[in-house]
Amino acid sequence: MDRLYANLLSELECPGCSNYMPPPIRQCKTGHSICEKCTNQLFKCPICQQNFTKARSINLESLAIKMQYPCTNSSYGCQERLTFIERNSHMKVCSYKKYSCPLKGCFFTGSKSEIKSHWDSKKLKTKTYGIKKVGRSKLKANSYFVRLVEAYNENFWFKKMTKQEKICWALQYIGDSNKALDYYFEIEVFKPDFPKKRIIYSDYCQPIEINNDDLFSKNNCLSATFDSLDNYIGNDKLLTYCFRVFKSEKTSEQIKQYINEDNSSSTCRTKSK
Ligand SMILES: [Zn+2]
Ligand SMILES: [Zn+2]
Ligand SMILES: [Zn+2]
Ligand SMILES: [Zn+2]
Repeated sequence: MDRLYANLLSELECPGCSNYMPPPIRQCKTGHSICEKCTNQLFKCPICQQNFTKARSINLESLAIKMQYPCTNSSYGCQERLTFIERNSHMKVCSYKKYSCPLKGCFFTGSKSEIKSHWDSKKLKTKTYGIKKVGRSKLKANSYFVRLVEAYNENFWFKKMTKQEKICWALQYIGDSNKALDYYFEIEVFKPDFPKKRIIYSDYCQPIEINNDDLFSKNNCLSATFDSLDNYIGNDKLLTYCFRVFKSEKTSEQIKQYINEDNSSSTCRTKSK
């Protein structure tokens, strides 16, 4: 990026939050530009302490839309230059993306490979799961459990949570969120010594962007009430289940298409009634 372009870009940095200002760009009484978010969070202009007005900086907005900005991961090595619109879709696939460790109380962030070595480090006593793993757990009132999964040369988070007499399991793909649907997982609950007494739950893998609250509350996970699992609890009071991760034969694109086709065929049926 040449100096002139870099200078122009710096004019589009918000004086409040230092991010590039996306439209709508607001102004203070003096005429300083500021991003809309900051006008909601700050009381006065951070440069001159004047009040904000409702006026927008239309010319600056149209310039802001045309400019190409460095990827937010540029400090980690990403060389991409993108418009605001391109930036949103790029962020989902940027290979320099940093991921945060989902362990409670851990603030580590790193690339895919850094996450893996963090997880393998001696400091963490958390073993990595493979393609298949038998788990046993006590149905406690409130609990949270997470493991790194290595399968198909990819990494996933396997998360388990118990809350309000319910157990939830979820799998998240660490990487390009468009690829999450290429994988699915199964939880097979069975009673030890009675292997044919079992239930199999199955669901797609979720993208990494979903936070734990949404993951466990908005049907993005597998869940079962403690009551429904009562008959499967072993003599040791533990629930035994087998976790498996699969690569779908259908790609994410095919699944989306399949869902669309299915929707259109069901509307046909209702019309023909
Ligand atoms: Zn701002
Ligand atoms: Zn000002
Ligand atoms: Zn990038
Ligand atoms: Zn950690």
